[in-house]
Amino acid sequence: MKDVFLVGATGSIGTQTLDVIREYSNEFRLVGVGIGNNIELGKKIIEEFKPEIISIKNKCELNLSYNPKVYFGDLGLLEVASYKTKGEMLFVNALVGIAGLLPTVYAIKAKKDIALANKETLVVAGDIINDLIKENGVNLLPIDSEHSAILECLKGEEKREVKNLIITASGGTFRNKERSELVGVTKEDALKHPNWSMGAKITIDSATMMNKGFEVIEAHYLFNIPYSKIKTVMHPESIVHSLVEYEDGVIKASLGSADMHIPIAYALRYPHHEKLECAKGLSLVGLSLNFKELSIDRFPCLGYAYKALEKGGIYRAVLNAANEAAVYLFLHDKIEFLDIEKIIYEELSKEKYKNIEYNLSNILEVSKLIMSDILERYGD
Ligand code: NAD
Ligand code: MG
Repeated sequence: MKDVFLVGATGSIGTQTLDVIREYSNEFRLVGVGIGNNIELGKKIIEEFKPEIISIKNKCELNLSYNPKVYFGDLGLLEVASYKTKGEMLFVNALVGIAGLLPTVYAIKAKKDIALANKETLVVAGDIINDLIKENGVNLLPIDSEHSAILECLKGEEKREVKNLIITASGGTFRNKERSELVGVTKEDALKHPNWSMGAKITIDSATMMNKGFEVIEAHYLFNIPYSKIKTVMHPESIVHSLVEYEDGVIKASLGSADMHIPIAYALRYPHHEKLECAKGLSLVGLSLNFKELSIDRFPCLGYAYKALEKGGIYRAVLNAANEAAVYLFLHDKIEFLDIEKIIYEELSKEKYKNIEYNLSNILEVSKLIMSDILERYGD
């Protein structure tokens, strides 16, 4: 049995993780949960799984049928991350945004293996996380369809023989629109992803292609491959989840339906591919697969991710914070869709971040300052 701690339990990844845990209830026991604002669903989850420790974002009355440890606020998430059992422990981070960073750090320090959906953690602090993983002797596996596919394609191979990692992108909601057609698009338009049903922030990140930029950074730190060898390609069908090209010309791909249960189960039960009834299958007959260039002129946010990697230091945190604030403003009707990339570009161009030392407390501090500054400047 593995003792699972799941934060962000009521979200898109969180609820699909619970499906996998239900299906493999002989392998997993939900010991800790972190719940955000959806208290109604949160309570249902708590009563079904009866975890020992619970964290809730805002203080409230729960009136539960049993007596678990209950904590509130961001510190509550850290209590769940630090909580120890005698068994093998797995921390599933399904939080969105930089709120996921410290819980990951605390969970690693508590010697928990990590299944990480919260890509922002690796975007802002990939190398710090890699050092912590080594120091604490734990494993980290990605819950992201592209990285799960790359992990699969690298299995049994020599890393030095890798020519390129090729990350596929559906193209997001506006893939068939020219830039000129993006003026005045609404959040309702932007939230209609053609292939995946996901949380609001990542759906907007997919429409701006910032998500693909984040995934390039995520891949760089997960697989320890130079970012000059990490390429992207548009693949509108979302069937090929990513590819690895080897020096001899062989390209390995991992295919499957667009169903996050599959990468979630792979991270939880790595390296197994046993039966997964909660996931949709895929029939190959009649499928056609298309690949097109993903243009940085059309999707500048993808270019900003490489820029942030190149600038180094704290700049990946600058990229993430500017994006997080801008997406929040767009989702609250304060700015236009095209303002998102403008805000990111402006922040990334500032030279003042160059001399800030790269460490965990500065990452958190600078992120907070950038977010509150942008929210103040563009909000009400
Ligand atoms: P979501 O918005 O559906 O869920 C996020 C959850 O985190 C929510 O339940 C929210 O209440 C909770 N949360 C946020 N801040 C919190 C806080 N401070 N305290 C407690 N709870 C808090 O988002 P999602 O789509 O599930 O995405 C989660 C992460 O997974 C993101 O980093 C995203 O980029 C990544 N991801 C998602 C998908 C997908 O298919 N949804 C795919 C790949 C990667
Ligand atoms: Mg992805």
